[in-house]
Amino acid sequence: MCLFCKIINNEIPSFKVFENKYVLAFLDISQETTGHTLVLPKKHISNILELDVETGHHLSDAVIEVTDLLSKKLKCNNFNILNNCGELAGQTVHHLHIHVIPQHENEHFTFNHNSHDPDFKKLELTHKKIIDK
Ligand code: AMP
Ligand code: ZN
Repeated sequence: MCLFCKIINNEIPSFKVFENKYVLAFLDISQETTGHTLVLPKKHISNILELDVETGHHLSDAVIEVTDLLSKKLKCNNFNILNNCGELAGQTVHHLHIHVIPQHENEHFTFNHNSHDPDFKKLELTHKKIIDK
């Protein structure tokens, strides 16, 4: 059984902040910022590529609810909400989870997205690859 399934089954303790029939949310043990929370389906699904539509709806509803909860309780209105899908993307626990990371004035989480000059030839090729039937 995976680590997060054990947390869901209460075999491993966690700091739960939200729970319903389909979804659990608890504080990430390694807090990027105060309130950094993981939101996950109770059903074991490895990553977003395996996600079914119904579970996806429950998960996204819960992400909105958790973000709202953190915003009210921790008095913050800025967040990074992200998912690492697969090892190359940095996924270390293979039970789908969404990171909800509050941004605070005095405690900044840096999400590294580099800014590149647009390469329109490459954009065109990539776009074609994606939309071609
Ligand atoms: P990822 O790298 O996207 O797969 O994220 C996995 C996250 O799980 C990391 O941010 C870890 O800090 C977190 N994590 C690992 N073990 C635990 C645990 N026992 N309780 C809470 N969070 C955990
Ligand atoms: Zn699991």
